[in-house]
Amino acid sequence: MPSYLIDLSAVKELTGIKVKHNRLTIGALTSLAQVRSSAEVLANAPALTAAAAAIAAHSIRQLATIGGNIVTRVGDSLPGLSLTKRSWFGKMTKENARWMRSRGWNVAEAERQGFVHDR
Ligand SMILES: Cc1cc2nc3c(=O)[nH]c(=O)nc-3n(C[C@H](O)[C@H](O)[C@H](O)COP(=O)(O)OP(=O)(O)OC[C@H]3O[C@@H](n4cnc5c(N)ncnc54)[C@H](O)[C@@H]3O)c2cc1C
Repeated sequence: MPSYLIDLSAVKELTGIKVKHNRLTIGALTSLAQVRSSAEVLANAPALTAAAAAIAAHSIRQLATIGGNIVTRVGDSLPGLSLTKRSWFGKMTKENARWMRSRGWNVAEAERQGFVHDR
């Protein structure tokens, strides 16, 4: 057992879906059920809506988060995310890229396309 557990659910910025300045933002703690039923996601990333609808059962989707689904590296949200016009690479910092590389992701394409920024 870990010595400490940190509950991130109080960090409001990590939950929710919004569109601002033509950019769709989904907080990492947003549940797959919220992603599935979001009108903003449907309008901007329909493949992600379809992917979220296909993941597990309703009861699991209430608890499972999109952040957790991405980090598993085999999550079914990944094809939906990569098919969106506003790619999830859209706002990757060098720090994000370093973290993703450490988890075994290949971020070369994102770097090549100029999606990796200093901050
Ligand atoms: C019965 C059942 C059916 C399932 N069916 C499917 C399916 O059909 N398709 C599918 O893709 N998945 C499926 N899953 C797997 C899983 O439920 C989902 O991938 C889910 O989205 C994981 O989210 P979570 O919040 O539960 O993450 P967790 O399982 O809690 O975490 C997964 C990993 O991500 C890390 N992590 C979680 N949140 C963050 C964050 N915000 N920042 C950084 N790291 C983070 C955790 O430390 C852990 O390493 C299923 C699971 C169950 C139990």
